[in-house]
Amino acid sequence: MDEFRISDKGPVFSPGKLICIGRNYAKHAKELGNALPEQPMVFLKPASALLSTGGKIIIPSMSSDVHHEVELVCLIGKMGKNISIENALDHIAGYAVGLDMTARDVQNEAKSKGHPWTVAKGFDTFAPLGPFISRSSVLDPQNLQVELTVNGIVRQSGNTADMIFPVKKLIVWCSSIFTLMPGDLIYTGTPEGVSQIRAGDELEARIEGFPELNVGVRHP
Ligand code: ZN
Repeated sequence: MDEFRISDKGPVFSPGKLICIGRNYAKHAKELGNALPEQPMVFLKPASALLSTGGKIIIPSMSSDVHHEVELVCLIGKMGKNISIENALDHIAGYAVGLDMTARDVQNEAKSKGHPWTVAKGFDTFAPLGPFISRSSVLDPQNLQVELTVNGIVRQSGNTADMIFPVKKLIVWCSSIFTLMPGDLIYTGTPEGVSQIRAGDELEARIEGFPELNVGVRHP
């Protein structure tokens, strides 16, 4: 994915950093046996992990347990550092539905050794991303139904109302660490229902009112 556009006439963004939030829905933290965070839990993915709709997720040979995590994704449109809560949403250019693919077996091993999650989260094709819609077409980012089906069967269904840290707070927190730049993405965390995918599966990620994200799965 070389660039992002919200509309044909709008600005073009080069992909920047992919900021991801872990454990942002209580039921998902619980299903993996994790305590609820007191601050947003932040990790990064490389932009080389991006995959457009219509593409195929590659199951890396290093893993035999790749999981889907469907998420609301924010595209940053305006540079900012130490952004205030009042101005937070002004820094968003658009939204999309995305998948934070995770090699769960690699992640569990890293967790047990106290190692970072970079490998488990960073493989090529591990950040599928749907087409964007403009910020102005989303009335309330904290009232969106988020859903993922695999081969037509619903695996994940949640609502952004259940986020522990809403989008505004994520922007405040992330901008206290990183300067947010146009083209940066924030993957805002996943609701419960994460599970394994296999070669040949067809994934359909949806947020009401957004263009869909459809991806397949294959071996290398
Ligand atoms: Zn995630």
